[in-house]
Amino acid sequence: MTQAQNDILDLIIIGGGPAGVTGGIYAARKKLKTVLITGEFGGQSNVSPDIQNWIGTPHISGADLAKNLEKHLREYESTEQNETTLIIEHPSLAAKVEKTNDIFKVTTSNGTEHNAKALLYTAGSVRRKLPAKGADEYEHKGLTYCATCDGPLFTGRDLVVIGGGDAAFETAAQLLEYAKSVTLLNRTDKLSADAVTIEKVSAHPNMTVITNADTTEVLGDAMVTGVKYKNTETAEEHSLECGGIFVEIGMIPNTEILKNINDVLDTRGRIEVDPWTQQTKVTGLWAAGDCTNVRYHQNGIAMGDATKAIEDIYSVLKTK
Ligand SMILES: Cc1cc2nc3c(=O)[nH]c(=O)nc-3n(C[C@H](O)[C@H](O)[C@H](O)COP(=O)(O)OP(=O)(O)OC[C@H]3O[C@@H](n4cnc5c(N)ncnc54)[C@H](O)[C@@H]3O)c2cc1C
Repeated sequence: MTQAQNDILDLIIIGGGPAGVTGGIYAARKKLKTVLITGEFGGQSNVSPDIQNWIGTPHISGADLAKNLEKHLREYESTEQNETTLIIEHPSLAAKVEKTNDIFKVTTSNGTEHNAKALLYTAGSVRRKLPAKGADEYEHKGLTYCATCDGPLFTGRDLVVIGGGDAAFETAAQLLEYAKSVTLLNRTDKLSADAVTIEKVSAHPNMTVITNADTTEVLGDAMVTGVKYKNTETAEEHSLECGGIFVEIGMIPNTEILKNINDVLDTRGRIEVDPWTQQTKVTGLWAAGDCTNVRYHQNGIAMGDATKAIEDIYSVLKTK
């Protein structure tokens, strides 16, 4: 079903990950006239073989989770016979966002245009990938980008964390609860994490921090067995045996198409939101999930933030 060119909807949602799907379901149940545009369903944890913190379901693959999210959303999809309010554009990417006279216009990669009074942006982010030989090959075979998601699977092993910011040190702190040892490798001599965090985590007897260590190769057979790194000052090469690698070298928010709208993004390209309402500094624009400046990144957090956003959108559109 397509939207007539000049219809003004209540809401456009961009993204079909946990945040976007949650937004779509809540919006449809509140009878907000909504279009949801997404490239794919499920979001970043799609690739996970075994998600163990989807509360209420002890084990589910990312692929099954994505199917369930899409199925649940489509229960509310508008059809010719069914006078409900949700239009789903999939697979389709939002290519342009404009705001004129309090109305948002989103143009998709298929050339469709949608106009609405409110926009909920949930296009997520991508993890910055480790630029080392073997990193792609060993992803999900001992190399992972999420300690909260996968950490307990690595109990009793010698582990490596790559990165030097707060996320890397917080990952190390989590892993120290069950790892035999944690070695943190940071490419430069400067650790960017908070000084108190560095001091506290580094003081753990099973923790080692190595700076000027540029990870060059992930070693393994069927699974990860170690890493190679080069000392950036001496060019000396080193190998380190380990039973798992956690990469925390940053996230890249999918916010390119908002760059033409003033006051939305912070210096790292994340959408700044008021955590009380999920409103941005631009009237009519809300955001939720990993594309925002939220501190932690989990499916449950993205869904909770999108729920909050829809409650607020409804309140602003219908009662203010
Ligand atoms: C490998 C991995 C494993 C993880 N495992 C877990 C786990 O076990 N448990 C857990 O709680 N969390 C896990 N996470 C974190 C979790 O996946 C994220 O926090 C969560 O997916 C964020 O949801 P989101 O909806 O904000 O964004 P995303 O999941 O990033 O979804 C963004 C959505 O927007 C769509 N999109 C992007 N650009 C556009 C555009 N221009 N137009 C239209 N659509 C667009 C994408 O197709 C996608 O559907 C994992 C993350 C990774 C990387």
